Parts: sequence; C-alpha cells; structure tokens
Amino acid sequence: MTQTIDVIAIDGPTASGKGTIAQRVARALGFHYLDTGALYRLTALTCLKAGIALDDEAACACAAGAMEPVFDMGRILLAGEDVTDAIRAEEVGVAASRVAALPAVRAALTALQKASRRAPGLVADGRDMASVIFPDAKLKVFLTASAEARANRRFKQLIDKGFSANLADLTRDLLERDRRDRERTVSPCVPAPGALVLDSSELTVEETVDRVLAWWHASEH
Ligand code: C5P
Repeated sequence: MTQTIDVIAIDGPTASGKGTIAQRVARALGFHYLDTGALYRLTALTCLKAGIALDDEAACACAAGAMEPVFDMGRILLAGEDVTDAIRAEEVGVAASRVAALPAVRAALTALQKASRRAPGLVADGRDMASVIFPDAKLKVFLTASAEARANRRFKQLIDKGFSANLADLTRDLLERDRRDRERTVSPCVPAPGALVLDSSELTVEETVDRVLAWWHASEH
C-alpha cells in the first residue's frame, strides 16, 4: 500500500548538505523526513559503547536490528538516552562508514527505513535511497559539492555543536570516507540511474532547495 506514497530520494557524499536540504524540502512540501545516516551512526555508537568490533558483521548487525530509536522533534533517543549530539562526533561518523560497509548491517536497517514511508510523502537522505531502499522514488537527486566545500561545512557544523575540529584532519577523513563509501561492494555511494546530479559548491542553501523543489514540481506533470 505504501508504494503509492511519494518519495524524494536525496543521496550524496558526506557533508554535501543532504540533511539540511532534505529537511527544508520536506518542510516546504509538508512531507516526513528520514535521515538514514543517523541510523548508521546510531549503530556505530551502539557498537562502540558495547565494545563490539566494527568488523564483527554478525554482532554489528544484531546491534543494528535490536535498536529502537525514537525521532522526536529533532531529537534522537536511544534506549531513553538523548544521543542527538553524540552521534554527530566525527569518530562516530567514521565508525558509521565502517559498519555501513557490512551487508548484514544494511539488511538489518532496511525494514526501519521502509517503515518511514508515510503519507503524505517522504524525503529520505542517505547513500542508497534511490538505488536500494526506494528505487521507485518519484524524484532522485544526487547532491554533491567539492571536497573543499564539504570539509568547510563539516568544520563549521562541528564547531557549532561544540566539538573541537581541525580542517586538515577533517579533509583527510572525508576523502577516506568518500573512498570507502564509493568503493564498497554493497550500495556504493554513486548516482543511481535516473538521478539528477546537483553540485551545490557554489549555491546557497536557498538556491539548492529551490532547484530541488523545481524538479519536484516538474516531476508532478
Ligand atoms: O550521512 P552521514 O555522514 O550521517 O552518514 C554516516 C555514514 O553512514 C556514511 O559515511 C555512510 O558510510 C553511511 N551511510 C550509508 N548509507 C546511508 C546513509 C549513511 O552507508 N543510506
């Protein structure tokens, strides 16, 4: 039944602005919003806290499948604890890209993602929204930006959240993460067939949102 509910898939590399753009597009259309990166970050945080090795595929998948995160008014609760800021730490992001390369972890998180498809519509951001989770999405956007622009954005994001950050280290981590996300065998982070590629390096948030909304309105006719 949920197949008839509209989905806008926004995929792209880390710090490309997917989260900001997807949330604003969702708000403009009155749609729900799904941040799938948060699910991989929650899995990584759970494994780090429990001392589970990040290459122990069965144990990581078990941890992923057992999570019951609550998304409430912009906050994320896991087992009653507010982990909204904790999952944004760079260390957790790097660990997330490691567990995300494990096929059993991806499989364990599939049902949770598909269950977010609710009326009147969904804007979902991640790496494989258009290719694997919602291949029938009505609009598929691959949002990217230069490594320099993305490193600067991530730097600002971390500083704003009170984390310490170093631009050179961030750029190195980001390029390493890009490589792992792009080259992994399951759900590599590459534009899906039919995806419209949008480079936001030189665009403001408003311009990027307007471009996506224009594509959406065009897709409705
Ligand atoms: O988007 P974000 O940086 O929060 O994602 C953290 C990590 O989770 C990414 O580096 C990527 O490896 C992984 N991820 C994924 N598939 C998704 C969303 C995120 O593999 N749909």
